[in-house]
Amino acid sequence: MQDASSWTDGLQLAFGADQPRRMLIGGRWLESYSGQSIAVVDPSTASPIASIQRGTAADVDRAVAAARAAFEGGEWPAMNGTARERLMHKLADLIETNSAEFALLEALDGGKPIAAAHQADVLGSVARLRYAAAWAPRLNGQNIEPAVPLDMHCYTRREACGVAGLIVPWNFPLAMAVSKLGDALAAGCTVVLKPSELTSLATLRLGELIGEAGFPDGVVNIVTGYGSEAGQALADHAGVDKISFTGSTRVGKQLVRSAAGNLKRLTLELGGKSPAIVFADADLDLSVRGVLRNFTYNSGQICAAGSRIFVHRAVYEPFLVALADAASAVRVGPATEDFTEMGPLVSEAQRDRVRDYIAGAVESGATVVAGGAMTETEGYFHRPTILADTRPDMAVRREEIFGPVATISPFEGDEFAAVIREANDTDYGLSSYIYTRDLSAAHRTARLIRAGTVRINGAALDHTMPFGGYKQSGWGRENGCEGVLSFTELKTVMIALA
Ligand code: NAP
Ligand code: MG
Repeated sequence: MQDASSWTDGLQLAFGADQPRRMLIGGRWLESYSGQSIAVVDPSTASPIASIQRGTAADVDRAVAAARAAFEGGEWPAMNGTARERLMHKLADLIETNSAEFALLEALDGGKPIAAAHQADVLGSVARLRYAAAWAPRLNGQNIEPAVPLDMHCYTRREACGVAGLIVPWNFPLAMAVSKLGDALAAGCTVVLKPSELTSLATLRLGELIGEAGFPDGVVNIVTGYGSEAGQALADHAGVDKISFTGSTRVGKQLVRSAAGNLKRLTLELGGKSPAIVFADADLDLSVRGVLRNFTYNSGQICAAGSRIFVHRAVYEPFLVALADAASAVRVGPATEDFTEMGPLVSEAQRDRVRDYIAGAVESGATVVAGGAMTETEGYFHRPTILADTRPDMAVRREEIFGPVATISPFEGDEFAAVIREANDTDYGLSSYIYTRDLSAAHRTARLIRAGTVRINGAALDHTMPFGGYKQSGWGRENGCEGVLSFTELKTVMIALA
């Protein structure tokens, strides 16, 4: 790995200027109409490192107009899937060439440990974009044999759904922007991308590379600003055909109401409160490592976090001791330090939210088995925290905390049905984790869990597999072929041959 001091040297180059970073609209880098900016804070140090434009409805209008013009005229609509694929590969190559800079941006902006950010977020985005690119020339329709006794030729076409608004949260800024963008571009959409105001830097750098790759002006527009202003304006806009959103269930529900105006299509990837079930026969080391990672990866700021742990009574005590030891051993520190395994939370508000959840649980009788607040640092750090003695009605068992916090409870040998009932006793249904060596128990549990993904014995998810939620975890699926298809409309054409 590149050493940490050389990553930090790049920072001086990247942020030489004090000017707020501009927005990409119609191929030009513009200031917002508001003339206001938003400070960008490094969560490892709580210090400002840059600033971005505070885009509002007027900027969104301008960006949607540019995206509409690019969708309906110019070079983009004339490009076929193969041409789009070629451009997307160019962009992927450029991200790869600049991967160290992206890792640094993700580390400073969002607090991601830099080596992991490089591997998972940046190189993962390169692979994700190449995967999406491969779909571009493969979005074929079907021939259909009609039932009526008429001589007809009937077929379907997959067409781009139009102008797409991509609203990206702060937990995976580059990876989620690239994931949504890749699928939208493969389908032939044009887009307005709204990163979170907490983490816009990597997306703005991506915008520069989009220009370098040679995408026609207006195909990709980037408006920075607050969710409640720029994000809301995009969701309300009559010129937008689809919104792809990742974020909280609360905002997701608000977007459903906004989308009603022009019945725009919606893909919603919302929150989760995913169960991790450890059966008595599970491999102890493997399950401890997996369960810990499920709720501490990205400082627990992950929609698929396995934040409700259920362990068979027969192995509960040894499992708890091992998990508490492993959690206490996690090295929490600044994102650019080599030793760091877990960085800070993204913001002061998020850190305080995590503290409040834990304090509330303790007041109601929960026991902190490992972890707790870190008060000795300036940055927004929090230790991996495990809560025992919780009840199913407590907020920490029901609500998405979005921090490195999990509850743990035992279940009995004859309580298979009960643990499934508890696992499903949630408004959410995004993910789930099962640890067992018993194939029947694994597949039986997988069938009974009401969630979009089931991961058994530490299996990894990747961009080839559809991802999304049951229940209030969202609408639709991202990734896989389904992700690209969600940016298309299906047209049926029939011609009488007589
Ligand atoms: P939030 O206010 O609900 O916002 C979530 C995301 O939606 C942010 O990226 C935000 O953009 C954007 N947004 C907010 N209001 C919007 C609106 N009216 N229209 C369009 N977009 C809007 O959540 P938060 O305060 O960032 O985090 C609180 C909780 O949300 C977390 O603790 C977690 O439970 C959940 N969350 C889930 C995910 C996920 O991956 N599923 C991601 C992030 C947060 P700005 O940041 O620019 O305001
Ligand atoms: Mg930041």
